[in-house]
Amino acid sequence: MGMLQAWQSELKEAVRSLAEIEGDYAFLRDYPAVEEKFRTLVPRYYLGLIDRADPRDPIARMAFASSEELRVSPTALRDPIGDLARKAAPRLTHRYPDRALLHTTNLCPMYCRFCFRKNLMNEKDEELYSGSFEEAFAYLAAHMGIEELILTGGDPWMLSDDKLAALVEEIARRAPHVRRLRFHTRMPVTLPSRVTADLVRAISGRFQTFVVTHFNHPRELTEQARNGLALLRGAGITVLNQSVLLKGVNDSARVLRDLYRRLGNEGVLPYYLHHCDLVAGAEHFRLSIDEGRKIWTELRGTLSGYLIPEYILDTPGGWGKVPIGGDFVSELGAGAYELARGGVEYRDPPTTGRQ
Ligand code: SF4
Repeated sequence: MGMLQAWQSELKEAVRSLAEIEGDYAFLRDYPAVEEKFRTLVPRYYLGLIDRADPRDPIARMAFASSEELRVSPTALRDPIGDLARKAAPRLTHRYPDRALLHTTNLCPMYCRFCFRKNLMNEKDEELYSGSFEEAFAYLAAHMGIEELILTGGDPWMLSDDKLAALVEEIARRAPHVRRLRFHTRMPVTLPSRVTADLVRAISGRFQTFVVTHFNHPRELTEQARNGLALLRGAGITVLNQSVLLKGVNDSARVLRDLYRRLGNEGVLPYYLHHCDLVAGAEHFRLSIDEGRKIWTELRGTLSGYLIPEYILDTPGGWGKVPIGGDFVSELGAGAYELARGGVEYRDPPTTGRQ
C-alpha cells in the first residue's frame, strides 16, 4: 500500500467505541451491547461538530449508539426497502427498469445510527456485499435498458481513487449503454477531506456524473463541507442531496428550511426527504407519516419550489418509492376544486381539444 491520503489517515484516528468519549449524553447507556450488534465509527472531524454542552445534541444523536437500538418492534425489518428481495446478481439490486444499484462495499467512514442498511451492513455473512463484481458486470452487460448505475454501499467513496477509477473504466467497458453514473455518499458530510481533485478525476469524465450526498442538519454544512461541494460543482458534477426525516434531529420545518436554503446557496438541490424506513434498530428516529406531512407542508411557500425535496416513502418489500407529501387539492365535483392556499375555489374550464 502506498502513502495514505489525508482522509485515510484521518479515518485511522476515528473513534471506534463510545468508551473513548466523555460527555453527559442521556442515550449512551448500554452502548457496549449495542456496539456488539451495530458497529460504532465516528471520524474526529464529525465529533468536532457536536455541541458537548447539549445532552440532546442532534449531531451526537446521529453518531452515538443508543440503548434504543436494541428495542425492536414486531414491524421492524432487517431489509426495509427490499435490497435483497430485488437482488439480481451478487452486489446488484435491480428495482426499476432503467436503473440498478451496485453495492460496492459495506464500509462507511461513520456508522450513522439511523442507517436503513444497518442490519445488512453489520452481518457477518455480508449477503448484500459478498461476491466478485464479475456477475454484476455480466448482468449489466445483458440488460441494455439500464441507463443509470447507482454506486452505493456502504459508501462507495471508501474505495481508493485507483479502485474507483478502475471501477468506472470497467463499467464503461462492459456496459457502454450506461449513460449516467450516480454516487450515493455521505463522505462530504462525515469526512469532507475525502473530496479531493484526485477523487474528482477518478469518478468523472466517462459518464454524466451525479453525486447524491446526505446532509440531514444545517450544522453539517461546515466550511470544509462547503469546500468539498464547491470542488464537485466546479468539475461540472450535478450534486443532489437526500435527507431522512429524523426524530430529535431535523423534525421541524424550521430546521429543514434552514438546511435546504443553505444547500441551495451551495448549488446543491434537495432531492428527497425520506420518511424513516421500518429498519430494526432505528425505530426511535421515526415520526408518523402525519407528523412528517405537516412538517413538509409547512415548507411550501417559504422556499423556492426547487429547494423543496419530494417527501417519499420507500415501500417495504422493494416495490420502490412513493411520494407522500402534499394534500393541496380537494375535488368538489363538477370540475370544481378547493385549493389549499386560503381555501380558494378553482373551476377547471372545459377543455377544447380536437374531437
Ligand atoms: S453513510 Fe449512509 S450507508 Fe453509511 S452508515 Fe451512514 S446512512 Fe448508512
